[in-house]
Amino acid sequence: MTASRPVPAPGPDPGGPAPIPPGATIGILGGGQLGRMLGFAARALGYRIAILDPDPGCPAAAIADLVITADYGSVEGALELARGCAVVTYELEHVDAALVDAVEAAGVPVRPGAHALRMTQDRLAERRFVAGLGIASAPWREVTDEAGLRAAAADLGTPLRLKAPIGGYDGRSQVRLAAPDEIAGALKRLGRPPGSPLLVERELDFAAELSVITARALDGTLAAFPVARNRHDEGILVESVAPAPVDAAVADAATALGRRIAEALGAVGLVTAELFLLRDGSLAVNELAPRVHNSGHWTIEGARTSQFEQHVRATCGLPLGDPAAHGPTAMVNLLGTGALREARLEGAAEALADPLVHLHVYDKRRVFERRKMGHLTVAGAADVEDGLARGRAALAKLRWA
Ligand code: ADP
Ligand code: MG
Repeated sequence: MTASRPVPAPGPDPGGPAPIPPGATIGILGGGQLGRMLGFAARALGYRIAILDPDPGCPAAAIADLVITADYGSVEGALELARGCAVVTYELEHVDAALVDAVEAAGVPVRPGAHALRMTQDRLAERRFVAGLGIASAPWREVTDEAGLRAAAADLGTPLRLKAPIGGYDGRSQVRLAAPDEIAGALKRLGRPPGSPLLVERELDFAAELSVITARALDGTLAAFPVARNRHDEGILVESVAPAPVDAAVADAATALGRRIAEALGAVGLVTAELFLLRDGSLAVNELAPRVHNSGHWTIEGARTSQFEQHVRATCGLPLGDPAAHGPTAMVNLLGTGALREARLEGAAEALADPLVHLHVYDKRRVFERRKMGHLTVAGAADVEDGLARGRAALAKLRWA
């Protein structure tokens, strides 16, 4: 089976820090939709929420007890957030690691932790970490200039993906090079300062994209959610289904990778591994994230414990919940369309006409083309393909006025 029940860490419980009781405040660095959904789960358990985000109208602000308006590099902001918090977590890996160090130095634990953040916020550090574990990824090189890029292309072949190590998401901050004649000017197109270290890797002809989300508790107990199969459109996640309709051997191998990675990161909380399933049945790591993940949104209705509740449990030193799926589940993202304008969604009643469909809207004030605005989940369908078809049909009823 692809889900794995919580497995206690081997050996005696080292008797670590006591659990953080409901009523305490959890600090979240970042106030996007992930922070918002984490906040809902934390509130259900009776915790209070403080968030830090540069935008006072961010999606998590509406559900937070306290909002610190500061950017993700502000040490003062982070210390202000930490004051009064029993623990701090992050909902994006683009926060400055120095800020996490400052919070820990002030005596407030940060989970999953500074090491997990450092290893995953820089794609080059992440590749070295993954290679150090003997886990495959797309063949890659570090390059700083066009000569280096030409040498890498000669070695690796094309197509290639040239990626900025820090700050990319939803397919931003990367450039595709279909053939060697596209190398000229590619560094400029990426827009990083000349001489910056960059990651260039071979584009893989994968059979599918998968992801595995693994929770690691304070005592080292691990629990993995069923593997998801994901589809991206121009770098942005559009659909996930779980449990992924893949051979049990593939799902087991993905789960084993997730466990090894979560353990090696020493994370307390969730760790997501985005994987490529290659045509020979082997797996390669694409990207890691020490946090809840878009490909785990299906767990809200589709699993016995949602990824958000699981992260709150781990972060607060509570035992992990059962991550098993209730059944085949599909999730489709609701993206923005058109020019930047006030967000007004139409068609919710039509989309919800199918009783198996659930709608989540992140309450972003403004919509623009391809912005992540919400998602739909289908739980209880005959199989994941039926779920996907229902999800797509519901999505087609929604539009931005
Ligand atoms: P982001 O941080 O934007 O999610 P990713 O590196 O995960 O960046 O790339 C986004 C998507 O682009 C991937 O999920 C995949 O669909 C595609 N992609 C990225 N790198 C490769 C690659 N080496 N081979 C094939 N597809 C890739
Ligand atoms: Mg990715």
